[in-house]
Amino acid sequence: MSSQFRAILVSKTEKGQKLDFVTLGEADLMPGDVTVAVEHSTVNYKDGLAVTGRAPIIRHYPLIPGIDFAGTVVESGHRLIKAGDKVILNGWGVGEGHHGGYAGLARVKGDWLVAVPDTMTTAQTMAIGTAGYTAMLCIIALERQGVKPEDGEILVTGAAGGVGSIAIAVLSKLGYKVAASTGRPEEEAFLKSLGASTIIDRNEFSGPVKALAKARFAGAVDAVGSTTLANVLSQILPEGAVAACGLAQGMDLPASVAPFILRGVKLIGINSVTAALTRRVEAWSRLAHDLDMTKLKELTSHAKLDDVAALAADIIAGKIRGRVVIDL
Ligand code: NDP
Repeated sequence: MSSQFRAILVSKTEKGQKLDFVTLGEADLMPGDVTVAVEHSTVNYKDGLAVTGRAPIIRHYPLIPGIDFAGTVVESGHRLIKAGDKVILNGWGVGEGHHGGYAGLARVKGDWLVAVPDTMTTAQTMAIGTAGYTAMLCIIALERQGVKPEDGEILVTGAAGGVGSIAIAVLSKLGYKVAASTGRPEEEAFLKSLGASTIIDRNEFSGPVKALAKARFAGAVDAVGSTTLANVLSQILPEGAVAACGLAQGMDLPASVAPFILRGVKLIGINSVTAALTRRVEAWSRLAHDLDMTKLKELTSHAKLDDVAALAADIIAGKIRGRVVIDL
């Protein structure tokens, strides 16, 4: 690996942000004890916000964005990581305050890295990416609340997106009956191929919020937030649970406490960014076991560094189906 590498660099200007393709050297990287030859990164919703500048995700300029990557270690001062190891990076402020995955080379703290599961390639781990790993954290959270396949249907909101599509594939493999809420009726066949049995128009969750509506779901994985999450809470069966990880519709939550105090519904927050290493390792090993790699292939497309700006705009516009891997 040459010490020179291509990267996307976002700088601050008087008008906002600008994005350049640059050639950098190792000396341009930030401090860290492990250097990784990046093989794949991805475009997550947060990358969309960062690259377009739609939300103040980037906290340090100039910055290489890209909140996740996978690759091969080229140099390590970390006691548990050695050159040649295949590793995954998700979160920890990478692509926000620390140079990220849209580059041929990355330098990070070894404590942030997770080993690529033996049965997976680096490309497969990035097809899953932060979105898929977060979907798994959501499902583990529902399991910990005792939500079982026989309890009833699980709703997945933002179904055709990254978190949603992987949540559907994993839930269906685990034997859950899955209802997929989407604004894209044209994706019905795709969502059914992943394992959804019911398709619901997302507008059903965008109307006025009742304190309690007809209870119909044993649980939910919510990537959308706002009015959708409030409506979902009001439709959860007694003692059911909702894992909330996203804000694609908005950060607000115009809900009442009625589902909590009258039905014992649980709302579990999911933060993937600073999740402890043990939880990460658990999530990745569950993904290796509980995600059908054929379905993962179906929901994944591949693109290049040059495509990132357009893909960032597309993901914010809700136009990306499943997951996009960026091949470095
Ligand atoms: P995607 O854009 O791939 O998926 C989001 C989906 O939400 C869209 O595909 C769309 O699904 C739906 N959606 C978009 N806009 C709206 C809207 N205005 N109203 C209702 N539904 C909408 O993003 P990701 O899957 O990468 O991320 C999903 C969310 O999860 C994001 O908010 C992201 O920030 C969050 N996230 C949080 C993490 C955490 O640690 N808490 C980690 C990873 C992601 P459809 O077309 O099917 O309706």
